[in-house]
Amino acid sequence: MKNERTSLPRIELPDLLEAPDLLRLVELLRGVQRIVVTAHHGPDGDAVGSCLAWAAYLRTLGKQVTIALPSWYPDFLRWMPGSREILIHRDRPAQVRRALQEADLVCCLDLNELSRLNQMQADVEAAKAPRLMIDHHERPDTDKFAFTVSRPRMSSTCEVVLRLVWQLGGYGEMTRSTAACLYAGIMTDTGNFAYNSDAPALYLAVALLMRKRVDKESIYKKVYHSWTQGKFKLWSDVLSQNLTFHADGRASVFTLSREEMKSHKFIRGDAEGLVNEPLKVRGMRLSISLREDTEEDIVRVSLRSTGGFHCREMAERFFNGGGHDDAAGGKLPFPLEAAVATATEAIAAYEEELRAAD
Ligand code: 5GP
Ligand code: MN
Repeated sequence: MKNERTSLPRIELPDLLEAPDLLRLVELLRGVQRIVVTAHHGPDGDAVGSCLAWAAYLRTLGKQVTIALPSWYPDFLRWMPGSREILIHRDRPAQVRRALQEADLVCCLDLNELSRLNQMQADVEAAKAPRLMIDHHERPDTDKFAFTVSRPRMSSTCEVVLRLVWQLGGYGEMTRSTAACLYAGIMTDTGNFAYNSDAPALYLAVALLMRKRVDKESIYKKVYHSWTQGKFKLWSDVLSQNLTFHADGRASVFTLSREEMKSHKFIRGDAEGLVNEPLKVRGMRLSISLREDTEEDIVRVSLRSTGGFHCREMAERFFNGGGHDDAAGGKLPFPLEAAVATATEAIAAYEEELRAAD
């Protein structure tokens, strides 16, 4: 059964911030009362988990916190304690705008630039409050923020938040529910500790979450093994019918249309992770997903790479996007056929690198 949790030696996390920065952050937080916490558009486990945990910490300081996200989070994250109180800008723009206007501080989590807020960007920029960034993406746009905590080497924003809360002395008051949110964010951003998870300090952080009696098995099941039949059929249909191999099996492209989503009773998040599937093929270095957006007339592009090929530059050059070395994304104008042509062109442009990698 469960591990003995009390007999462990004392766990210490290395400091995240240098003393002067820590003081500056403490000063910043001391001077504010009303706070809006937000994260990137199309929020994932790390975005939602870090927002909930950071908001919970701020509330222990007596702050009045509103969590507002640009768009909906996936259904498989609805179990997250506190997720139901999150305001979705797309559904309640006026309420979110008011919270932003009244805020003394806006915390932007799991994003490195304001454009990642999509349709919420204008309202955040219009707010007079200073901004705090807590993130782990490369190249943070620090000019737009009064204070930036950016750690691109870290697994997830949830890890950054945990270490920040630890250094700020908030760990003792952290609840089991909050620890579960942080664990879920770390778990999802590392593919259940498959990638971005080599740093020994990460496991000290995880140990601190386990000390809060996080039920990792149950979280794993809720996030990864709670598929509907529709999702199961959607994945098998897309992979068997819509996927093409390129560059001698080094790359693959698949499409997902609105019509296919509808016919499989698509719910938010059903396509998440699908882009990773082709990388299970031996020799595969790049997977490109082209998905019609359900609200805007655009095609959402997701790229994943492995084996020494890195997809971020391709996302910037061909797909109006960016991201991490091995997980990037972007968007293309409608329709899907034109997006397929662009993806084919992108693969052709990188064919040499794709063949040479590793
Ligand atoms: P996903 O494929 O999960 O939507 O996105 C993977 C990563 O790509 C994200 O974590 C983010 O860093 C990056 N990304 C996705 N879409 C965009 C985009 O439109 N613009 C930029 N700059 N980055 C994106
Ligand atoms: Mn993240």
